[in-house]
Amino acid sequence: MSKSKRIAIIGSGPAGLMAATQLVLSPHLSLLEIHLFEKRSGFGRKLLIAGSSGLNISHEHSIKDFSDHYEGWTPEFWRNTLTAFGPKEWISFIESQLGMETFLGTSQRYFVKEMKASTLLKKWTQFLEEKGVIFHSQSALSEFTKKDETISLTFNHDESTTQEFDRVALFLGGGSWENEEPKWVELFKSKKINLIPFEPSNVGYEVAWNEKFLKEAEGKPLKKVILETSKGKKMGELVITQYGIEGTPVYFCGMKGQAFLDLKPDLTEEQILIKLNQTKENLSPMRRVKHLLGLSEAAEALLFHHTTNEIKTDLHKLITTIKKFPITLTQPRPLLEAISSKGGLDLKEVSSVFELKKFTGIFCGGEMLDWDAPTGGFLIQACVSQGAAVARSILTSF
Ligand SMILES: Cc1cc2nc3c(=O)[nH]c(=O)nc-3n(C[C@H](O)[C@H](O)[C@H](O)COP(=O)(O)OP(=O)(O)OC[C@H]3O[C@@H](n4cnc5c(N)ncnc54)[C@H](O)[C@@H]3O)c2cc1C
Repeated sequence: MSKSKRIAIIGSGPAGLMAATQLVLSPHLSLLEIHLFEKRSGFGRKLLIAGSSGLNISHEHSIKDFSDHYEGWTPEFWRNTLTAFGPKEWISFIESQLGMETFLGTSQRYFVKEMKASTLLKKWTQFLEEKGVIFHSQSALSEFTKKDETISLTFNHDESTTQEFDRVALFLGGGSWENEEPKWVELFKSKKINLIPFEPSNVGYEVAWNEKFLKEAEGKPLKKVILETSKGKKMGELVITQYGIEGTPVYFCGMKGQAFLDLKPDLTEEQILIKLNQTKENLSPMRRVKHLLGLSEAAEALLFHHTTNEIKTDLHKLITTIKKFPITLTQPRPLLEAISSKGGLDLKEVSSVFELKKFTGIFCGGEMLDWDAPTGGFLIQACVSQGAAVARSILTSF
């Protein structure tokens, strides 16, 4: 690189912040002028939201197993992206550059020890500011055009804000946790860039619970159960809500239609029978379950209020139901409540280096693209890995 370059990064989520990070850590930093634009008054809103329930930043897996958790590009593409900048590099950045401790939980998920996104975000933006990144809040990208090698960006529909850049990286986020469709969708459509409609992902599902059950179980957990749907199975904790269920198993394999719960996954039907016969008292099947099986309160309420008398009074039928309790997932909750979204920018619109095919010099990454993954740190990891990939692509494009 012989002369200085102006680079604009739009969007201050984990993907945008990591792209800026990799640029400031490059040996060419003295030749780069890096601007980071965000439409909101504060930076990294979704990272803060994600951190409100403990900040799960990545997952412990081999790169191969990690890659198998993603939909969108081929597993090989994911492997390459994660090999170049994966969990090891991400954790190392947080620890060595931001000076924050992380830990691996029993669920094989990585967390920031402080369990707070606000400190991570503060230290991260400070680190970037100290390295010279120029932050602009309340600057919503409203137009981009390209003439020869120069890209012009306009913010807030105000032409007086138009600035020129050599390279642009867009990390505008997906459709989840938003009141309305993101504005960038219209902008991309006006440029004839193909988009896939957003759909909620990693989201709760609705179940038609009866009132008596809800009175007893709303807000309570079904601890350590397995949810099985046509999409797969997952063990974990589900929380009973007014409208249905929330929690990792349903985020992982939620699917409209028939589903089953294994309310006692650590015991087989035979083992349950032995346990329930360990009393000489003449108890009804339901009482045996209550006294001898150690189910959570919500699971007991489920058996009591959502099974027929025929099942409740027949020990064998009750045990079969405990191992395969049928529920119907009627529909997913809306995008506004989803942890992530499927859909967004069609992957066919970007090259293998994340560059828009119709607008070279403009790169895209993060949740705005049409890929998907389960929660458990896979989402944030993918975003930072793509942010790093975009930064590498920008540097090699000069
Ligand atoms: C409740 C919740 C819990 C979550 N928990 C986890 C978790 O535990 N682990 C995990 O891995 N992931 C989790 N996630 C998902 C994770 O937060 C997202 O995948 C991640 O933030 C996406 O990063 P991103 O940089 O692509 O986009 P975002 O973080 O959405 O950032 C995009 C940014 O672009 C800005 N922007 C948009 N349009 C414009 C424009 N026109 N001009 C300027 N700026 C613009 C937005 O305001 C936003 O700040 C959670 C999400 C939610 C909602």
